[in-house]
Amino acid sequence: MSSPIHYRGRFAPSPTGPLHFGSLVAALGSYLDAKHHRGIWLVRIEDLDTPRTVKGAADEILGTLEAYGLHWDEDIIYQSQRTAAYEAAFHRLKVAGSVYPCACSRKEIADSGLQRGDELVYPGTCRKGMAQGKTARAWRVRVNDTCITFSDRMQGIISQDLATEAGDFVVLRADGLFAYQLAVIVDDAAQGITDVVRGADLLFSTPRQIYLQRLLGLPTPAYMHLPVVVNSQGEKLSKQTLAQPVRDNNPAFTMFDALVFLRQQPPAELRLDTIEEILGWAIANWQPGALLNCHQLPIEQPTAAF
Ligand SMILES: [Zn+2]
Repeated sequence: MSSPIHYRGRFAPSPTGPLHFGSLVAALGSYLDAKHHRGIWLVRIEDLDTPRTVKGAADEILGTLEAYGLHWDEDIIYQSQRTAAYEAAFHRLKVAGSVYPCACSRKEIADSGLQRGDELVYPGTCRKGMAQGKTARAWRVRVNDTCITFSDRMQGIISQDLATEAGDFVVLRADGLFAYQLAVIVDDAAQGITDVVRGADLLFSTPRQIYLQRLLGLPTPAYMHLPVVVNSQGEKLSKQTLAQPVRDNNPAFTMFDALVFLRQQPPAELRLDTIEEILGWAIANWQPGALLNCHQLPIEQPTAAF
């Protein structure tokens, strides 16, 4: 782990809707870890995927964070305003010969039958050049025979053979937008992030991000992936699974519940305290180790507080 004095963490929501309980828990985990280490905590709005961005959602999320006492320390970065930085990184990959154009449609890749979990593994069709008469849709990075291993502060040693588990992956999408995997590492480096604390749904994207960091000569932060909050059907809370937004009218109650949920065992009398007092206790007593060996955090049907 990095020196406490230099700790810089961040919360990076996508503005596709209001903050729900799962994203509040992720925000709180990264905030508490940063503040426990006397660090800086930043917020980045990941509004790069413009087709999915909902107008007004970013302001709504920021309003909720403020209502919950989660104040960020420096100016907010918006990915939609960072295209030049992603272009520069992409250009470096191109000059180094690390990326190539790909003409394959999603259907063609799906038909190749290589699948890992929910993700399609690209079979490398265009690696040695596109077939005659085809035009480039996306740009992919060559992964060669790279195996990436890293030690996650919560999930332990994670190892991924990029060739068989991810394949050459997209860095510039067919719709002209830069891929999340590229944008996130460019931004983490630009913001000097030393510690990434986020949901475990991103655990298996991390080796691809580390690979890009190495290609671009960027530092790799420490990672800690928190268990994902799931509903009673075992689905990750999200807009797609109709997760209820957190409400701003009684943040102290919901914050207390979020701490219980993160297995922090706040004393019962704290429930009636102000949000500042609850957070003060939580920062001083933050113990992410309470979540070890826990892969999912199920909640029952959303309660009034959530
Ligand atoms: Zn292709």
